[in-house]
Amino acid sequence: MNREDFPMISKTIYFDNGATTLKCKNVIESMKRYYTEYTSNIHRGDYEFSLMTNELYDGTRHIVKSFINGKNSKVIFTSGTTESINMIVFGFMKNKLSKGDIVLLNKSEHAFNILPWFKLKEEIGIEIKFISLTDSFEVDVNEISNNITDKVKVISIAQISNVIGDIRDIKKISDICKKNNIYLCVDGAQSVPHKKVDFDECGMDFLSFSGHKMIGPTGVGCLVVRDELFNEMEPLYLGGGMNLDFYNDGSYELHSDESKFEAGTLPIAEVIGLREACLYLEEIGMDKIHEYEVELKKYLIEQLEKNKKIIMYNKSLDSGILSFNVDGVFAQDVAIYLDKYNICVRAGNHCDKLLDEEIGVSNTVRVSLYFYNTKEEIDKLVKVLDNDNILREVI
Ligand code: PMP
Repeated sequence: MNREDFPMISKTIYFDNGATTLKCKNVIESMKRYYTEYTSNIHRGDYEFSLMTNELYDGTRHIVKSFINGKNSKVIFTSGTTESINMIVFGFMKNKLSKGDIVLLNKSEHAFNILPWFKLKEEIGIEIKFISLTDSFEVDVNEISNNITDKVKVISIAQISNVIGDIRDIKKISDICKKNNIYLCVDGAQSVPHKKVDFDECGMDFLSFSGHKMIGPTGVGCLVVRDELFNEMEPLYLGGGMNLDFYNDGSYELHSDESKFEAGTLPIAEVIGLREACLYLEEIGMDKIHEYEVELKKYLIEQLEKNKKIIMYNKSLDSGILSFNVDGVFAQDVAIYLDKYNICVRAGNHCDKLLDEEIGVSNTVRVSLYFYNTKEEIDKLVKVLDNDNILREVI
């Protein structure tokens, strides 16, 4: 890995990778080439440019499949994780669930994995149950087991949570789901970019993730669906590109492959960019990326522990996410202060608006690391946080 592959890397110390990552040169160049050398739509043209675009677009599905080992899956391109879960909830679950059926969630899920279920509750009367978190705010698989009843029909869960950063054992959760006929929806927004995710081995039914959190472009993501469930899903949008034919009596036929869910013109340049992102990450190796991030987090914790004003909420070494506060200073003020030193972090509730009930604070500062971050960058962060005058400097 070459840090120079990331054009923005010299401009800032970027520790907000959980929100979105820096973009890689290969990604940017591939999208630029599409716009400057062979712009064309897909599945419509008989000229060379269009055929070339088809090949890259459709080929990206295979690259994604291999990236997440989803041999027994279909990969649908979406605008991102959020659109993917809405497709699952309203294009699949709405037809499968009935009043009184329970969806198991936990309070450390991102808004995207809570609000669509709330809406479904409003619409068809499902029940939502939040399982308790451990004392370190993590999900314990035993707690999931303890909450299984014959009314539980869905478990929807992030593989890595975005504030606590705990890794949930999806294989074990999937075993519970299989035994009890429960659908398993996995949010891969914070896992797919950071570690090897194995869709088949983990026995997932649905997996969602976003390109922009994995050095790729905004506006594109994936919904991966287990083969057996694919034909039972309904598209939320209808239009060009997804139908085979329609007739003046109001009847219509739809494609039977992924394009059934890709109505209209999709973000073609972004799909091509996502392809490059997967290839780049694969070349480094997802296991290496994960190992390095954990090493960086360990170093970050060791250094911050020397500063008695820092309150850390998740010291476990599952992932490269650290949430903390500086005693007596509002999280947002810490972020603004760090920005003065050209350090980007995220402050707030990070879209997890129920987690405060568990950790007892509404706002934290979050450092989320990626493979291009370094110990030298961490040293700089640690140094500027070790300043007794943070509060005065912010004001
Ligand atoms: N899940 C998690 C765990 C996330 O961190 C995010 C983004 N912050 C999302 C889902 C939503 O992703 P997107 O905004 O790309 O749809």
